[in-house]
Amino acid sequence: MESNSKTIVWFRRDLRIEDNPALAAAARNGSVFPVFIWSPKEEGQFYPGRVSRWWLKQSLIHLEQSLKSLGAELVLIKAQSTLSALLDCIEAVGATKVVYNHLYDPVSLVRDHNIKQKLGELGISVQSYNGDLLNEPWEVYDDDGKVFTTFDAYWEKSLRLQKEPVSHLPPWKLIPAAGSVKMCSVEELGLENESEKSSNALLGKGWAPGWSNADKALTEFVENQLLAYSKDRLRVGGNSTSLLSPYLHFGEVSVRKVFNSVRLKQILWTKEGNSVGDESASLYLRAIGLREYSRYICFNFPFTHERSLLNNLKFFPWNADQARFKAWRQGRTGYPLVDAGMRELWATGWIHNKIRVIVASFFVKFLLLPWQWGMKYFWDTLLDADLESDIIGWQYISGSLPDGHELERLDNPEVQGFNYDPEGEYVRHWLPELARMPAEWIHHPWDAPLTVLKAAGVELGMNYPNPIIDVDVARDRLMQAIFIMREKEAAANAADANGTNEVVFDNSENVGDSVNPKVVKGKVPCPSSSSYDQRVPSMQKGSTNKKRPNPVEEEKKFKDNWLSCKIKTEGKISKADDDLCSTAESSSMKKQMTTSRNSFSVPQAISMSYDIKSFDGEASSHVKLQNEEEIDMEINSCKNGAIAE
Ligand SMILES: Cc1cc2nc3c(=O)[nH]c(=O)nc-3n(C[C@H](O)[C@H](O)[C@H](O)COP(=O)(O)OP(=O)(O)OC[C@H]3O[C@@H](n4cnc5c(N)ncnc54)[C@H](O)[C@@H]3O)c2cc1C
Repeated sequence: MESNSKTIVWFRRDLRIEDNPALAAAARNGSVFPVFIWSPKEEGQFYPGRVSRWWLKQSLIHLEQSLKSLGAELVLIKAQSTLSALLDCIEAVGATKVVYNHLYDPVSLVRDHNIKQKLGELGISVQSYNGDLLNEPWEVYDDDGKVFTTFDAYWEKSLRLQKEPVSHLPPWKLIPAAGSVKMCSVEELGLENESEKSSNALLGKGWAPGWSNADKALTEFVENQLLAYSKDRLRVGGNSTSLLSPYLHFGEVSVRKVFNSVRLKQILWTKEGNSVGDESASLYLRAIGLREYSRYICFNFPFTHERSLLNNLKFFPWNADQARFKAWRQGRTGYPLVDAGMRELWATGWIHNKIRVIVASFFVKFLLLPWQWGMKYFWDTLLDADLESDIIGWQYISGSLPDGHELERLDNPEVQGFNYDPEGEYVRHWLPELARMPAEWIHHPWDAPLTVLKAAGVELGMNYPNPIIDVDVARDRLMQAIFIMREKEAAANAADANGTNEVVFDNSENVGDSVNPKVVKGKVPCPSSSSYDQRVPSMQKGSTNKKRPNPVEEEKKFKDNWLSCKIKTEGKISKADDDLCSTAESSSMKKQMTTSRNSFSVPQAISMSYDIKSFDGEASSHVKLQNEEEIDMEINSCKNGAIAE
């Protein structure tokens, strides 16, 4: 041990003492100077939302106390530039080394690279560690040395690469490095505005941020709920999953520890012949694998926060409609399950994975809103807002991943309501205006007899909206949009025989700059960042039709572009079969049955051979979407639980 070595420990999203490789290495080496630097300017477009900043503040307070009890102080700095703040620390302390744990999101990748380079040029030793993943994104390749682009193959290989569990013991004592820098209190970091405090106070009732609370939550889950995870994880109300996502996002629990605790249980259950436990543990580890995969994809394809991995949405005719965007955000789409999810998100900062899939799919498939807007809104409102998981989630539902939902797939929230909230309890909880609706009608109040609506005190168009768009119209519009997209794509491919089209955004010209969500902190508010339009929905004036409104206007908008695809698809749309499976399961069935009332696929007549751009930007492979291939892929993802389900 070089006892006089002074090391700056740069904390970021690794707010824990246990199994923290950077902290452990610094503590072994001599004295430490732990620092957390908050630079809102550098966060740019991805400045965290209110609830996420609340969580961060509580975690920093927790970490501050823990470090103090070990003998060191956490230095908090609010800075314009992280690099200059680090340089100030180095100078004040006389440090020769900076250590930190890796981050993989596109913003951090660029910043960390620059800082490492600059410090290196100044002769400061910089050492970074893996504190966030089981395997580094550059450690997992296929047999040809290529990057995986499907989850199953990636996860299988990752599991094979698992080494003996190595855990960095927490230091029992820290030797503080002395030095005076311009530090501030956690309050002065400005993570929480005065106006946010009353709303935030409620969050403390449901959540306890901080690494030792993460530890307790993990133990409680593994001991008491993990066994039933395979059965409970699709239940949308109540605590059916581990709720570890915010802890994992801020690095308050080591993913290695999570993996090892669950794996140990699995070994035990396997020995006991407990197949339910075995399956639950596998599914849970798979969920952890999805988090790993999100970092893997973002690291290897760092453009994915802007454009789809498959580059397939380049020509998609997005409908950049602010009014629809607002209705979705406020939970006023007229589809109870979607609205309940959006109200829960706003009220609590958290929603179940299934609900994330449902509201996100509705956003893209029913409203044809650009997926990047939805991704940004989630980023602004989720307690566990995590850029990589958010990206992979939105890409998954919008047909942008080879093993995700197909773009053609349209799930009916009415049917999903009956599948995931059969008694309507979830909807009743979040939509008090529907509290007295009987279960039979709760997921489609527009079909309810007038007497039922009256008895329940529901006046459609007044105290609860009519559906923003009819399912059949939405289906037609989506199909037409895909048709247009493929037509344009074919034309572009024909014009560019080499197939070297490259774009920065998915059809950005269609979305338009003026409406594209931008920096949250700035003069021009991001459409998704304003809290003012999140008040209790105002009464809507309108018809009191109890049936779905005739969506004449919707159709009118698209009439001009309505091409021959309708003729081609006629006779293929069966209204008979309802989606009785889970979202993931249903898709394979849908494909085999061609189309149904609740989900449909664009028929082969209009699907075409299209380029899946090679992910490393080299030669692209021509992939013909054959029916059989599609079905196989979906069956596989269904069998394995799919990425987001
Ligand atoms: C559109 C969309 C956006 C999403 N945005 C986020 C986000 O911003 N932050 C976030 O943490 N998760 C996000 N997810 C993934 C997932 O919904 C949450 O991780 C999960 O619901 C968190 O609850 P839990 O901790 O109880 O999960 P559990 O079921 O208990 O899973 C354990 C852990 O595995 C990881 N995990 C589980 N499912 C996924 C998944 N599909 N993708 C990536 N990691 C997963 C999480 O770290 C989670 O904490 C998103 C999913 C979708 C479909």
